[in-house]
Amino acid sequence: MKRIVIVGGGYAGFYTAWRLEKRLRRGEAEVTVVDHTPYMTYQPFLPEVAAGSIEARHAIVPLRRHLRRTRLVSGRATRIDHAERVVHVRLPDGSMTSFGYDEVVVTAGAVTRVFPVPGVREAAIGLKHIEEAVAIRDALLTAFDQAASLPPGPERQRRLGVTFIGGGFNGVEGFGEVFSLARALVRRHPGIRADELDFRLVEASDHLLPEVTPRAREWVRRHLESRGAKVHLRTTVTSVLDGRVELSTGESFDSGLVVWTAGIAANPVSARHTDLPVNERGLVVVRADLRVGTPDHPIEHAWAAGDDAAVPDLAAGPGAYTVPNAQHAVRQGKRLAKNLVAVLRGREPKPYRHRSLGTIATLGLGQGIFQSGPVTLTGPTAWLVHRGYHVLAMPTWERKLRVAGGWLGGFVLGRDIATLQTVQRPRAAFREDAEARRAE
Ligand SMILES: Cc1cc2nc3c(=O)[nH]c(=O)nc-3n(C[C@H](O)[C@H](O)[C@H](O)COP(=O)(O)OP(=O)(O)OC[C@H]3O[C@@H](n4cnc5c(N)ncnc54)[C@H](O)[C@@H]3O)c2cc1C
Repeated sequence: MKRIVIVGGGYAGFYTAWRLEKRLRRGEAEVTVVDHTPYMTYQPFLPEVAAGSIEARHAIVPLRRHLRRTRLVSGRATRIDHAERVVHVRLPDGSMTSFGYDEVVVTAGAVTRVFPVPGVREAAIGLKHIEEAVAIRDALLTAFDQAASLPPGPERQRRLGVTFIGGGFNGVEGFGEVFSLARALVRRHPGIRADELDFRLVEASDHLLPEVTPRAREWVRRHLESRGAKVHLRTTVTSVLDGRVELSTGESFDSGLVVWTAGIAANPVSARHTDLPVNERGLVVVRADLRVGTPDHPIEHAWAAGDDAAVPDLAAGPGAYTVPNAQHAVRQGKRLAKNLVAVLRGREPKPYRHRSLGTIATLGLGQGIFQSGPVTLTGPTAWLVHRGYHVLAMPTWERKLRVAGGWLGGFVLGRDIATLQTVQRPRAAFREDAEARRAE
């Protein structure tokens, strides 16, 4: 039996394994997925998880439930040694093991790109993982509860200040959703006025959302500002110290919650810890059929897709590469599975080709922007398209129904503003009780 090892069970890895389960005959190959998380995260839902419109557990797909014929290994790949056909893995107890393979699939995705800005590492939080989305939501809800009990002053102001650093797709969506939650919270906290909120979106370039046309970007900026947010273009954050954010313009303000959404970088395992060929950005070099290498220098038995791979974009023309997004990662995963099975059976693989369907972004409950070719939709219509598209794109009916059920609940009952920030310190109450008992 051939051994196929997939490094990373996110979008591209999950779809590759899922499709392999459907296409491989019994006994044809054994598929192993290595990932330190037991689920695939539907990252486009993270902004809505941060805003409390989607329950966190519903935005992830448990691998064990949906990959029934795949061996799942809970561990982090530390090195892919293709010359030896081995993936080295660190297991949860810190020990090392290795998996030999006949075919390797590299789908480890990307990591958050963080610049060395003083205080950011200590004070800011990303928006790429489910834990981060949950923490952002709970931090905002807790901050409102606390601010409502505090007298006017810097402590209260800091709790009502939120800064997003990075105005790309993730930043704009996250900012729009969290701002929308904050405005809804004002209605639940009679002691807090809407004009006390200080929501800032800081972007180094001269525009938000590079994926859409200049006119649409301008609409997004004006829309956010019309709701009371401050958008700082051509501006960088120079420090985040003691809850105070300083900008390159010299301006500074209090901000209790700082979210870093300033882009992604290559995954270290594919960028630095492999003998597979990588480009200057640390992405695995693949051919159009998703096999590693170039047409002139093919590398046999290695495949890659998703955010960690430089995939030629045949729909965009020579020299272009597909942008790192879910639209491509899903389709590349499916194509990769088909091609891998074809090669195992001695047939020719086919090139990956996909023309972008467009851009769709949520800007908060009931607001969004959609652009596809000459068509631009804004406001509630775009937001409905966003919800419709994503619930259909969510893998498996089991997950689609959970997400749709949550939305229906929110529609009928309103936003759920329960916060469980204390879950991040689950033993605190128990320890306090134990200490009190000892002191008696
Ligand atoms: C907030 C947010 C919103 C987004 N919204 C959209 C959107 O609306 N539309 C869109 O098209 N795209 C969107 N994206 C982008 C999209 O989610 C990514 O492009 C997509 O997830 C890439 O898929 P992937 O499989 O390459 O990586 P991922 O989905 O990130 O999966 C990588 C997997 O590899 C695992 N892994 C990492 N390192 C290792 C290791 N060393 N060993 C083992 N496993 C490892 C990870 O745990 C993860 O499970 C969004 C992203 C974010 C963060």
